[in-house]
Amino acid sequence: MDKRDYYEVLGVNKSASEDEIKKAYRLLAKKYHPDVSKEKDAEAKFKEVQEAYDVLSDQTKRAQYDQFGHQAANGGFGQGFGGGFEGFDFGDIFSAFFGGQPRGSQKANRPRKGSDIQKRMAVTFEESIFGKREKIRVPIYEECHVCHGSGAASSKDIHTCSRCRGSGSVVMETQTLFGRTQTRTTCPVCGGTGKEIRVKCNNCNGEGVERINKEVEIKVPEGIETGQQIRLEGFGNKGAMGGSSGDLYIVFEVKPSDTFVREGDDIIINIPITFAQAALGAEIEVPTVYGKVLLKIPQGTQNDAKFRIKGKGAPNVRTKMKGDQHVIVTVVTPTKLTNEQRRLFEQLLKVEDASQSKSMWNRFKDNFKK
Ligand SMILES: [Zn+2]
Ligand SMILES: [Zn+2]
Repeated sequence: MDKRDYYEVLGVNKSASEDEIKKAYRLLAKKYHPDVSKEKDAEAKFKEVQEAYDVLSDQTKRAQYDQFGHQAANGGFGQGFGGGFEGFDFGDIFSAFFGGQPRGSQKANRPRKGSDIQKRMAVTFEESIFGKREKIRVPIYEECHVCHGSGAASSKDIHTCSRCRGSGSVVMETQTLFGRTQTRTTCPVCGGTGKEIRVKCNNCNGEGVERINKEVEIKVPEGIETGQQIRLEGFGNKGAMGGSSGDLYIVFEVKPSDTFVREGDDIIINIPITFAQAALGAEIEVPTVYGKVLLKIPQGTQNDAKFRIKGKGAPNVRTKMKGDQHVIVTVVTPTKLTNEQRRLFEQLLKVEDASQSKSMWNRFKDNFKK
């Protein structure tokens, strides 16, 4: 079966940006993820998408792919360019291009790098400020516990590769511009392992890996924000046939707080104050994520006035430098008055400067004349 063009697999064009490729990959990975997808052939499609993304998301691999296409992955690389690349490690090229699966070939027991895993993790606003450690379970492919990764039903089923006689590499004769050249390259039958498996392990079907729910301890960094992620190297899926493991990406989602709103490294909070506090000035208690702080409100404070409390914002996830907390005050009109409050407001109304209201009316009148 022919491989589909990687750009076609992801449904993007050749000039697609890194972001476009990532976006397309996320959508498709979600659609075909074997754990959730109801699509036919979901697993095969998921692998195809993963493989395309592994290549197109890596600038170097993408450039090589743009230049040489699947040729590189089908062994044509060694034949066409064998003479020109001195000291070139073809094994690297093969594994680079075989991020996922060698499809339609007999190279199934070649070591393959495991794929990366992306997992979302929700944290509270508090946890996003102070960080925390939490153990979570991640469904991943781990080394098969029955065959310990060999992929064979028993040790008797592992034989020395008949093609390379166990050396893992073969000499290929190639025709180049400079005449015939011999190149040593990874054995196409055993993929360099030097071994052939006659009877496959029942538990993992010869892949050497099985799906488990692995417990992983996550350290949530202080100051993390929604959409930011951490990478746990080697905590992704185990590669088949002894291939190296992929990485685990944890993408954080911060749940909104009832009290605080984060803006960059600053934290915004709304505080209600009374008429009297606004008029006379007051010292009020303001919650911050680090505990209560006393804030002086000057006399004559207007509705929506903004005050800054230095250093009580969120820690920057990289520098750990803390932002500020901004307090926005709302002057609240009372809706229910006690008898005493009513009496005092009435008294206030009486003593309020009549001339002040008069002069206000005069200003309005002047404005209308213009
Ligand atoms: Zn097994
Ligand atoms: Zn071999």
